[in-house]
Amino acid sequence: MPASIIDGKMIAAKVHEETAEEVAVLARDYNVQPGLAVVLVGDDPASRVYVNMKVKKCKELRIYSEKHALDKTATMEEVLELVKKLNNDSRINGILVQSPPPPQIDEDEVVAAINPAKDVDCFHASNVGKMLIGKNDGFVPCTPYGIMMLLERSGVDPSGKHAVIIGRSNIVGKPMMALLVQKAKGANATVTCVHSRTKNLPEITRQADILIAAIGQPEFVTADMVKDGAVVIDVGINRVEDPNGRSNYQLVGDVKYDEVFDKASMITPVPGGVGPMTIAMLLHNTIKACKQQNGIV
Ligand code: NAD
Repeated sequence: MPASIIDGKMIAAKVHEETAEEVAVLARDYNVQPGLAVVLVGDDPASRVYVNMKVKKCKELRIYSEKHALDKTATMEEVLELVKKLNNDSRINGILVQSPPPPQIDEDEVVAAINPAKDVDCFHASNVGKMLIGKNDGFVPCTPYGIMMLLERSGVDPSGKHAVIIGRSNIVGKPMMALLVQKAKGANATVTCVHSRTKNLPEITRQADILIAAIGQPEFVTADMVKDGAVVIDVGINRVEDPNGRSNYQLVGDVKYDEVFDKASMITPVPGGVGPMTIAMLLHNTIKACKQQNGIV
């Protein structure tokens, strides 16, 4: 039976609506406006698009935002100086340094310099650790958080289910494992993570009740790798040549959508699945940061 589509655009729009309501309450009851600073180093075209999308969404939701664009030749000292300035700026509740920076920038060192209270992307070791031990006074990384939200709002309870995650990046795969395995409502899954060194990968993915693909390999997951009735979440965003030649490229996920669609019970499309949730959760985290920094519960 064909799958039902998990509509990330619609769910993200609902999260944005809730964020806008929170912004209105903060203004009305506390005279506070949340603020997000986005730092872009260099001229990576995709990064520029992502940064502009984030700033645009902030404007729409009346979140104060600052875009700091540094030249591709910027030094570590310049980036660290900017992060320090933003750490000390009370107008700014959340700081995001767009990944990937140019090679002379040590991303780990930059992330470590961000005040964990403003680390709304949840890359700082302090927030990653809090997430792992299930403490919820830190932040949850935006893409895996968005996936948890997609599951919850689509009525998928991971409790007791076998969730298989393909990919072990610090941004998606590893935090996804940590969130799904928590002893907590909306989690409690049995989690397996497979990656580039896994033997018999399809044998394992075929056991998944919930299959999450995050590897950056166009249409890697084929129907024969999916169990009948599985919930399939496609995180991948890959640019491939447009077979119809209508534009320069086409976006596809890590899942061969057309054939898996007939096997899964639910599936996220690309685009319009996980992607829109990432910005939604970033702004959700910014509100949380603002409340924490202003002592608002
Ligand atoms: P990454 O390159 O950091 O990590 C990829 C992971 O996949 C690695 O752990 C690697 O071991 C694994 N892998 C690669 N090839 C494999 C193979 N053939 N078999 C098994 N495992 C393999 O990637 P990432 O940052 O986690 O991103 C993954 C994908 O998700 C990319 O397409 C990226 O664009 C996309 N992404 C989307 C969003 C969003 O908002 N929708 C956010 C982050 C990443």
